[in-house]
Amino acid sequence: MLTGKVALVTGAGRGIGREIAQTLAKNGAVVIVNYNGSKADAENVVAEIEKNGGSAEAMQCNVSDFAASEAFVKEILEKYKKIDILVNNAGVTRDNLIMRMSEQDYDAVLDTNLKGAFNMIRHLSRSFIKQKSGKIINISSVSGILGNAGQSNYSASKAGLIGLTKSVAREFSSRGINVNAVAPGFIDTDMTKAMTDDAKKELSSMIPLGRMGKTKDIADLVLFLAGSSSDYITGQVICVDGGMSM
Ligand code: NAP
Repeated sequence: MLTGKVALVTGAGRGIGREIAQTLAKNGAVVIVNYNGSKADAENVVAEIEKNGGSAEAMQCNVSDFAASEAFVKEILEKYKKIDILVNNAGVTRDNLIMRMSEQDYDAVLDTNLKGAFNMIRHLSRSFIKQKSGKIINISSVSGILGNAGQSNYSASKAGLIGLTKSVAREFSSRGINVNAVAPGFIDTDMTKAMTDDAKKELSSMIPLGRMGKTKDIADLVLFLAGSSSDYITGQVICVDGGMSM
């Protein structure tokens, strides 16, 4: 159980982040449901959590903005005094072949997916180190492990997140802080909705377990990594991909 713990989940108004926020709240954590543009979605998540007896608050922040992230973290720490669990989930795609990829699309993906996680960890590092405990969970992707044609920006950001995870895990290991990455395969969310049925079918044929994953598949692992059962695990990348990357 996560009773007494405060969790921050970035990009938690929709998709995987939403499921993670609900799961952590169901298990007793007070959850900050971060959003960038989807205010109504984030408020819905909070309403659902509260309806189920949990505690949550929706808070806006564009995680790719260093100064805004600093002010956001400051506001949370003033109000909640600590963060025990940080889930860097916010992410975007701007797919294209590299020969057609614009600088803006490259930068936008790196800024949110990789710099966003850096911003959160950087601004929370003092607080984590002071409290000598904490769980940081970065949502990477199998694209960061295998690469994916048309996703050079996204794959680079997700591979970078793995390097960030391992380096911070080493820096924080003597302080009782665990830092791990989760690498989902293809999960049914808005991010993958744009795919045609044929593309989904073809993709499923590449997945040994024969189906796309569900948001719950990711949230259940995050719950484990957020709790004390994972205290001896750090610097790891755990794939939740139906066997796709084995
Ligand atoms: P999604 O449904 O498109 O949701 C993305 C979330 O990220 C939204 O809540 C969005 O919030 C938030 N976000 C985007 N930019 C942000 C910013 N600058 N600041 C704060 N929040 C921001 O995607 P998803 O499928 O749930 O993906 C969640 C994470 O899992 C991402 O990191 C993604 O790369 C990773 N992942 C997904 C899959 C998959 O198959 N779905 C596979 C591997 C990894 P707003 O709407 O408020 O902007």
